[in-house]
Amino acid sequence: MQVARPPEFGHTEASRFNRHADRLRERHGERVWRVGVDGGFSCPHRIAGRGAGGCTYCAPSAGAATYLGAGARENLDSQIERGLSFLRRRYAARAFFLYFQAYSSTNAPPERLRAVYEEGLAHGGGALFRGLVVSTRPDCVDEEKAELLASFAAGGLEVWVELGLQSAHDRTLARIRRGHDFAAFERARRRLELPGLRTAAHLILGLPGESRSDMVASARAAAELGLEGVKFHDLQLARGSALAAEYLAGEISLWDRRSLPAVVADCLEVLPPECEVIRLCADMPAGERLAPRFVADKTKMYEAVEAELVSRGTRQGSARGRG
Ligand code: SF4
Repeated sequence: MQVARPPEFGHTEASRFNRHADRLRERHGERVWRVGVDGGFSCPHRIAGRGAGGCTYCAPSAGAATYLGAGARENLDSQIERGLSFLRRRYAARAFFLYFQAYSSTNAPPERLRAVYEEGLAHGGGALFRGLVVSTRPDCVDEEKAELLASFAAGGLEVWVELGLQSAHDRTLARIRRGHDFAAFERARRRLELPGLRTAAHLILGLPGESRSDMVASARAAAELGLEGVKFHDLQLARGSALAAEYLAGEISLWDRRSLPAVVADCLEVLPPECEVIRLCADMPAGERLAPRFVADKTKMYEAVEAELVSRGTRQGSARGRG
């Protein structure tokens, strides 16, 4: 089934790529903030004996929002309250999506998923959240779960499913112990092609053994699936991860990050103009990061990518159909 495309996609005058934040502002009339929570679903891939201990880059926190801190196992209401008060205090935020961010947030039977999602969405009387975002693995989404997610979209919420892909190359997926291949991602994407559902892929730039053209090929493969969004991360090594151990043992080295804006620009050029770019680089808390020691701040990265596209005279989608 074809996903109905939002009519308002496209670039702003100010940007050479299709910024998700800008599209959200258009759809919701103001800036939208995500309240990240841990729904307590864990990740099947981290369970010893089933998932061989998880992906090699996975941080012990598995992506839980930093403001949750030690409270990541608190009940949902407390987590949401903590997130809201942080975002309101720090950014005067007023519009929110509920974001099941940590681990694999579809890793439970559909009836439990429904109960947990509904419990979170009911916070504050039920009219607080304008959208639902669920981050998960491609092998954790079956037809029933896809239908469940679509039912929230039918109820009026903007619903995004963020699927970890990281690389479209099976040799890399095996190397970083993802536990699925590219075909599994394609199948999940097809299952999620339901009215109102938007799907985004996570891609990591700089994975061990990957060349610049490998990374661009992954963006191109994501583009061919007609995804509604893409989220780029640059490889950063989390303390306690298997990849950090490989680094400390001298088995891998990090790529030259000075090429990051150029590689991101290459990837943007192959994405369809309507695909929303949710982020351009990782945002790992400094205390969690073993390497690299210094990373440019997010704003500088965005400026560097815009400058790269300006200097090339290109924009998102420029290279569609080429090479
Ligand atoms: S799927 Fe996600 S949570 Fe699970 S091991 Fe991999 S990175 Fe960690």
